[in-house]
Amino acid sequence: MRWIDILDRLVVEAEPQLTEFDAAIGDADHGANMTRATCACKAVLGDVPPLTTAAAFSEVGEALAQYIGGASGPLYGAIFLALGDSVPATTDIGAGDLVAGMREALISLHNLGAAVVGDKTMVDAIAPAVAELEQLVSVGAPFPEAVAAAAEAAARGARSTIPLRARKGRAAYLGPRSEGHQDPGATSSALLFEALRLAVGP
Ligand code: ADP
Ligand code: MG
Repeated sequence: MRWIDILDRLVVEAEPQLTEFDAAIGDADHGANMTRATCACKAVLGDVPPLTTAAAFSEVGEALAQYIGGASGPLYGAIFLALGDSVPATTDIGAGDLVAGMREALISLHNLGAAVVGDKTMVDAIAPAVAELEQLVSVGAPFPEAVAAAAEAAARGARSTIPLRARKGRAAYLGPRSEGHQDPGATSSALLFEALRLAVGP
């Protein structure tokens, strides 16, 4: 799946940065967690290619949950498992299906991790990206344009975590010392949307 192949490339390129960000406010494993997992996803999809996009999303969800290892594993897993459950089990899906699936994924992420925008987590990148995607698609914007805007919103969201004090996950134990650092999970989540932008773009 193009989205996952590109995500794997972006994650490998960003590994030193993800490691550095997690070293500052966590345990320095987020880069390794993500590269191991996106590589596993590629392998899983390559072995026996799933028949539908829905099945591919579910397999990616299972691989992410299994291979990331850290707190973000089940959360990333939940995103793709929700996508797999939400989109129709047909050979291909439409833009509207993916947008609706993204909303379900965000709900699932929230149900599992209980983080809201401003807690300095993945949600700070994903929530504004999903909102942007929904808004633009609802007014009839071409899908690649909506995804590009969503990717920019996710990147802005990741940067917006810098001044925040972490209220969820390992970084929350640092209290005020978590301020002044970009959240690693929000950073990798922005890559998820950047990969989608490159996958659907011209
Ligand atoms: P660990 O913290 O176990 O080492 P990772 O380093 O892989 O796991 O992932 C850390 C990231 O997980 C954080 O930067 C944050 O974005 C995300 N995270 C942690 N807890 C939550 C939560 N409850 N909700 C959303 N995201 C979370
Ligand atoms: Mg970590």
